[in-house]
Amino acid sequence: MSTAQDKKVILPSVGHFINGQRIVDAGRSQAIFNPATGEAIRQVVLAETDTVKSAIDAAQNAFVDWRNSTPLSRARIMFRFKELIEKHSETIVSLITEEHGKVLDDARGELQRGIENIEYACGAPELLKGEHSRNVGRGIDSWSEHQPLGVVAGITPSNFPAMVPLWMYPLALIAGNTFILKPSERDPSSTLFIGELLKEAGLPDGVFNLVNGDKEAVDILLSDNRVQAVSFVGSTAVAEAVYQKGSANGKRVQALGSAKNHAVIMPDADLDNAVSALLGAAYGSCGERCMAISVAVAVGTETATKLVESLAERIGTLTLGNGTDTSSQLGPLITEEHRDRVKGYVDLGLEEGANLIVDGRSQLAEEPGFFLGPCLFDNVASGMRIYQEEIFGPVLCVVRVESLEQAIKLIDEHDYGNGTCIFTRDGEAARYFSDHIQVGMVGVNVPLPVPVAYFSFGGWKRSLFGDQHIYGPEAVRFYTRSKVITQRWPTGGVREQAKFSFPGSD
Ligand code: NAD
Repeated sequence: MSTAQDKKVILPSVGHFINGQRIVDAGRSQAIFNPATGEAIRQVVLAETDTVKSAIDAAQNAFVDWRNSTPLSRARIMFRFKELIEKHSETIVSLITEEHGKVLDDARGELQRGIENIEYACGAPELLKGEHSRNVGRGIDSWSEHQPLGVVAGITPSNFPAMVPLWMYPLALIAGNTFILKPSERDPSSTLFIGELLKEAGLPDGVFNLVNGDKEAVDILLSDNRVQAVSFVGSTAVAEAVYQKGSANGKRVQALGSAKNHAVIMPDADLDNAVSALLGAAYGSCGERCMAISVAVAVGTETATKLVESLAERIGTLTLGNGTDTSSQLGPLITEEHRDRVKGYVDLGLEEGANLIVDGRSQLAEEPGFFLGPCLFDNVASGMRIYQEEIFGPVLCVVRVESLEQAIKLIDEHDYGNGTCIFTRDGEAARYFSDHIQVGMVGVNVPLPVPVAYFSFGGWKRSLFGDQHIYGPEAVRFYTRSKVITQRWPTGGVREQAKFSFPGSD
């Protein structure tokens, strides 16, 4: 039998991609697990200062040529990149499932949403167009331009190893920036596989670089003054620190954080549809989504009773298992530590006095991997930690209220404001809700209102630090600096005398 030490030696290494080359440096590393089996399958090397600096050198050196390339040539690279991802999609999807644990169909969905960001970026010539005005003064024209920032960085979370990086670099690149990606160290293989396809698509070396690593790598990206901007997606604890450090160092930063997304179930809702929607939104990807519904707010006692009964019955039919098994609807959680943390919240909910209607902890013992069955709490109160904190697991909390106003007040008082939705047949209630709720993304009979690629994604309150949302039109603004040029060519030999009044436009 091999020891843990032997295993560590033979694990294949996942390295970096710098200046068009795959680099595996000696030094610190960390095991990557298959969460469905609990086995260590690879090790990721964790970049130290010199490696991160070499990625910044490569991105800085590649910037001037890339900045001067045409938007259309950049778009063509994106077209080829999309085709290559589609060609290799099943390999990518398998890597996502193997390292994250989500079921294959869910991995396919994530990849598809990522591809849609590339499709949007293919409109580079149109997206980067400025505005032009002739004769802002006599013989004077003005126009605006969106110029690239330079070297920009992205730091991404474990729960969407393919999609979230694709929220960032296709748009950063078509805008003429060079990029350094630091993916999650827990499931980096699909991210690296996709990133390397950019070279095959024709991207010049150094324009896109990927460093694997942890806080040490992030800290260098946040402090090196050649990095102009940072996009971060992850937990709020890290997002806030990244935002503060990056901003203090003069960088443009957008940092998207944690969530607690509420679904309001009105008395007139189509309950069967609402329950189907809640099952997918609460337990899909084992609750490891920043847009997962983790709180169902039932309006009225009768609604609450029927909702809890129906949820409990249908949760009993859900199948938990290895994500590669097509009959599985829920896979494992990403790490043993995280599974134990989520289980700890279930224990805590009982101590806090909530009613545990479905107890997924019973499924723990039977599985070798990091599994936890779906859990349902009723009578959750707003003062409980299981209500206030992001659990990020298959745990749905039902809160009972008497009116839509109470539901809105509850949601508005929560620290997080990523997504929310309302289930109702009443258009007036739906409009009032979407008009007033203090949350960035709202669904009406849509449980996961993740904006499509040609809108932008972002929460409010402590779910986002920074002014601009991610991907879509706001990303074009985030990854560019606007400049207005005012130009005059004297015509007919007319020369003006010196003027000392402030220029007007007549
Ligand atoms: P995480 O915060 O642990 O890690 C995110 C990234 O930050 C990783 O690349 C990680 O290496 C890095 N990191 C971790 N600790 C750090 C530190 N101390 N200093 C600097 N960098 C550090 O998040 P996760 O567990 O990988 O992902 C899940 C979290 O991400 C959840 O909270 C979820 O809500 C959030 N998320 C938010 C969105 C959104 O759009 N708002 C999208 C996806 C995930």
